[in-house]
Amino acid sequence: MKSAFAFLLGLLITVSAQAQTVKPPKEAAMDRFLRYVKIDTQSAEDQTTVPSTRKQLNLANLLAKELKEIGAQNVRVSEFGIVYATVAGNLTDNSKVPVIGFLAHMDTSPAVSGENVNAIIHKNYQGGDIVLPKDPTQVITVAKNPVLKELIGDDIITADGTTLLGSDDKSGCAEIMAMVDTLMQNPQIKHGTLAIAFTPDEEVGTGVDKFDVKGFGARFAYTVDGESLGEISNETWSARTATVTFQGKSTHPGTAKGIMVNAMYAAADYLSRFPKDMLPETTEGRVGFVHPYAGVIDVERSSLKILLRDFDLSRLDAKEKNLRDMVAQTQAKFPEVKVAIEVKEDYKNMKEVLKNYPELTDNAIEASRRAGIKSYLRPIRGGTDGSTLTFENLPTPNLFTGGTNFHGKLEFNSRRGLEKTTEMLINLVQIFAEKAK
Ligand SMILES: [Zn+2]
Repeated sequence: MKSAFAFLLGLLITVSAQAQTVKPPKEAAMDRFLRYVKIDTQSAEDQTTVPSTRKQLNLANLLAKELKEIGAQNVRVSEFGIVYATVAGNLTDNSKVPVIGFLAHMDTSPAVSGENVNAIIHKNYQGGDIVLPKDPTQVITVAKNPVLKELIGDDIITADGTTLLGSDDKSGCAEIMAMVDTLMQNPQIKHGTLAIAFTPDEEVGTGVDKFDVKGFGARFAYTVDGESLGEISNETWSARTATVTFQGKSTHPGTAKGIMVNAMYAAADYLSRFPKDMLPETTEGRVGFVHPYAGVIDVERSSLKILLRDFDLSRLDAKEKNLRDMVAQTQAKFPEVKVAIEVKEDYKNMKEVLKNYPELTDNAIEASRRAGIKSYLRPIRGGTDGSTLTFENLPTPNLFTGGTNFHGKLEFNSRRGLEKTTEMLINLVQIFAEKAK
C-alpha cells in the first residue's frame, strides 16, 4: 500500500510540475550574480552627495541597460543613482491586483573592500570548513555557520579572502533581475504590474532618502536584502540617537586654580552610569540596548553619542528616560559643568505599520513554501530601507536572499540560495494575482 501511494504521489507531483513547465531566464541568477560582484560599488560614510561614490553608477547604468534588454518598461536612472523600472502586468484587468515593488541595494559596506572581488565557486560542497584561498586565516567554519550543513551538494560562492563578496546585496539585485527575466520568458505566469528599484547607499543609510515613492507607484513593496533561505522580516528596531554635551571652562593650567572646570570628569561620570545589562555586548534577540559609540573628550567641552535601540516603543521611551535621569544625576554631581541631552529619531519599527498588512508576510511565507523553503519571521536588530519606506506610505517587509555573513570577508551565498530565492519571488507575484481573483 505504502509504495503504491508513494508511486501515485510521485506521479501527481510529476504531472503538476509538467503542467507548470517554466522556461529558464535568458541568464540565470547565479551568472548575473557573478558578473555584478565584479563591479566595485562600495559606498562611503559622511558624504554630502547621493550616491556617496560615483562608482555605484557603473552598476546602476548596467542594470538599467539590462532591464531594457529583457523588456522592462519606464526604465530610468535618477539623478541620485536610483534605478527604476516597471514590469507590465499580464492579467485581463491589472487594476484588480496591487502594484508590488521589489527593491535591492547596489552598494556594498564601507567596512571591507569591494575592489577586485574574485568570486570562488566551491562546487558540490561536501561539508567541512571552507578556507579562503588568498588568506588562509579566513575560514568559514561549520561551528560558526551551521547553515553549511544544509548546503551539502550545493555550489557555494565565496570571495577569495581579501575582499567581501558583495552578496549583500548583489544577491538581491541578481534575484530580482532573474525574476523579471523569467517572467518575460513565461507569459503563462500571471502577475499584476510590478515596480522594480535598485538603490545606492543603503549601507550608509542615505540612498532611500532620495527615493521617489510616488513615482515608483507601488502599493506595497519588498526589500530583497535578508540572509539565509526562509528568513522573512517585518520587524526592525525603533531607533534614536542621543547626544550628551558637557560644557566646562578651559584656561591655562598654570593659572587655573578656582577658574578651570574640566568637562572630562563629568563625561566619565556619565559613562560610568550606563547599565551593564543593557549594552550591545550583553544583549541579543528581542532585548534592546543603549550604546555609547563615539565621543569627544576635552576640558572645555566633551560630548558623547549614544544609540538607543528597541523593538518596543514604550521600552525605547524608558531607555530615553533613563539617559535623561543619568544627565540629572551627573549634573547634580558636577554643578559647574553644564550637561545637556538631545535625542533625535532615526527610524521606527516597521511592525507598527506592517501589523495592519499581515497578507504581505503571509504571501511571502506561502511563496517560500511553494519553493520548498520553510520560512520563519526574524526581527532585525538593525534597520532596512523598508523601515524608512514603510513610514512613507510604502509598507515594505524584507525577504531572504540566501546569503550569509554580510559585511565581512566570510560572506557567502550558493547556487541554490540564488535560485530558490528567485523561485520564491516568482511564486510571490503569482500569489498576489491569484488572491485578487
Ligand atoms: Zn543589505
